[in-house]
Amino acid sequence: MGRILSGRRNLSDEQRMMLDSVDGLMAKYDEAYWGKLDRESAYPDEFVRAMEKQGLAAVPVPKEYGGPGLGVLDASLILEEINAMGGNSQPFHGQYYLLSAISKFASAEMRERYLPKIAAGELRLQSLALTEPEAGSESTRIKTSAEKKGGAYVVKGHKVFISRIENSDLMVLVARTTPYEKVEKKTEGISLFLVPLENIQGMESHRLEMMFNSQTYELFIDELKIPGESLIGEEGKGFRYLLSLLNAERILLSAECIGDARWFVEKSVEYAKQRVVFGRPIGSNQGIQFPIAEVYAKLLAADKVRTTAAELYDGGAEADAVGEYANASKYLASECSWQAANVAMDVYGGSGMAVANHIERKFRETRLFRVAPISNNLVLSYLGERVLGLPRSF
Ligand SMILES: Cc1cc2nc3c(=O)[nH]c(=O)nc-3n(C[C@H](O)[C@H](O)[C@H](O)COP(=O)(O)OP(=O)(O)OC[C@H]3O[C@@H](n4cnc5c(N)ncnc54)[C@H](O)[C@@H]3O)c2cc1C
Repeated sequence: MGRILSGRRNLSDEQRMMLDSVDGLMAKYDEAYWGKLDRESAYPDEFVRAMEKQGLAAVPVPKEYGGPGLGVLDASLILEEINAMGGNSQPFHGQYYLLSAISKFASAEMRERYLPKIAAGELRLQSLALTEPEAGSESTRIKTSAEKKGGAYVVKGHKVFISRIENSDLMVLVARTTPYEKVEKKTEGISLFLVPLENIQGMESHRLEMMFNSQTYELFIDELKIPGESLIGEEGKGFRYLLSLLNAERILLSAECIGDARWFVEKSVEYAKQRVVFGRPIGSNQGIQFPIAEVYAKLLAADKVRTTAAELYDGGAEADAVGEYANASKYLASECSWQAANVAMDVYGGSGMAVANHIERKFRETRLFRVAPISNNLVLSYLGERVLGLPRSF
């Protein structure tokens, strides 16, 4: 287990065993493996298959459908551990938060049809198609439409920054079943669909080049026909489901930031102890030591808020109560990992930019979290306006 933080937690025996099996995998899929994928811009197919084989890829699937039925806290510990060991959970994290939408809101038929196969590693649910070119942070402005015709829906629209389309069997598609202009409340009229991706007709995807190894696509959807039973829950009520799903996503991504921050702090400590300049280890200079200590203090705080958020979510608290902590956690953790990345860059000097040391790779990877899945400005706006009751800006 990654050393930083690991001795400071009250983990159960089951959680320790679970993390030991992640560590076992990460010993094989080490920094060199992730570095090679980064250079080749390739999906970690072998690693994801190994996760599936060990039953780690579908831990939120409820027990009655063949999964271990673990909560967001346990799932978040897995993602954190992967990142703390030098890996990158992004190619794989989607299933953890998307599963919550199916097990909480889908019909019994849909759950029975898909969850056992996902639990067995036969199907992957890794993609969420929400963002559009003109609807990023303002997600109620999506224009992709799903019009009911007979027993089916016909979908038209344009999505951008949609992850893992070619590495997933299923996608959760977010579309308007009633246009924005025709609803009383902007959160109404949005629906969620579970869409199989194999041999899909009526949708084209183009991979986007990003600043780190990311399987991110633009989708052009035209006359995509999906059967009526693809609808998740009730038509037009999808925004409520989305809030729950996005809370889970924020908590899980906080954990990835915490894992990254642990990795950066650990690397910084190691290097600051052994790198000698002016006849002494650089870590004995307070200009090097204090930034590491400061970000470590922030890491401890972010970890606690993540745990509270996850416990609220797993305990079934209302979306608003979870939202306060999920957003605070996402903010603290992503700022912390970014600070830790910059500290590591400074501690390593020129060596931080050498590809062989992986600092520059993790630096690029962790920068994402200040922007996605929600930008930190919008997180602060949620806390300011929704939680603290300050006057609204939009
Ligand atoms: C690698 C990657 C993977 C992604 N994967 C997915 C995916 O799988 N599925 C998916 O649906 N989406 C995905 N996204 C999209 C991601 O969720 C969005 O990028 C994010 O929500 C921000 O939206 P935007 O990029 O359109 O920024 P915009 O909404 O255009 O905002 C631009 C900037 O303006 C700021 N801003 C906007 N309004 C305000 C305001 N009122 N006050 C203060 N500041 C404001 C924002 O904070 C931001 O800094 C991904 C993005 C990336 C980069």
